[in-house]
Amino acid sequence: RFFCLEGIDGCGKSTQLKRLAEFLTGKGYDVLTIREPGGSEISESIRSLLLDIRYKGVMDSRTELLLYNAARAQVIAEKIAPALAAGKVVLADRFAWSTLAYQGYGREIDPQMVLNLSNITCGKFNPALTIVLDVSLEESRRRQAGENRVADRLESEAVSFFERVRNGYLKIAEVFPDCVNVVDANGDMDKIQDRIRDLILKRLA
Ligand code: C5P
Repeated sequence: RFFCLEGIDGCGKSTQLKRLAEFLTGKGYDVLTIREPGGSEISESIRSLLLDIRYKGVMDSRTELLLYNAARAQVIAEKIAPALAAGKVVLADRFAWSTLAYQGYGREIDPQMVLNLSNITCGKFNPALTIVLDVSLEESRRRQAGENRVADRLESEAVSFFERVRNGYLKIAEVFPDCVNVVDANGDMDKIQDRIRDLILKRLA
């Protein structure tokens, strides 16, 4: 009962996750949503460190990798494990596949090392299904420009970085088809939501 939405910045996952949570709640499910990095007090503090624009060009990739994992270990212990034990549906806005896509493929840290570390961090707490919302770089840029958001450390990365992250997600879906599905997220928001609902309801049935 643990599900996750993933994708590059501006893919629309936060909006889609909110709508999915409302839909499942309406169907009578007890739903916990969390965003990553974050979701608990300690994890949100780590998030502030990770996104702080003052550390641009300063934070080492391995520091970044370890901090994402630290934030995740904490939110699992404090929020995800208890919620799953109580029979709730847990919906995560990003989880360990983000780290493989961004730190592994994006920052070019050995993917196997990232996976090994994820095993240490997550143990058995892995989403039964992760949906990657795949958008073109152009569409993701267009959507982000439309949002009124504060610039963070990552947003000024080169286009080639996000290209590697996007291709990383597609590779992950190819290698782990049983637990990672790709949904084309370039088009109509309602249609994308319908597709997500179908995939999740199948797993909940
Ligand atoms: O999804 P959200 O906008 O909350 O992500 C916050 C920022 O952290 C984004 O800029 C995203 O690119 C970055 N990030 C990252 N590595 C991760 C997860 C998120 O660089 N593992």
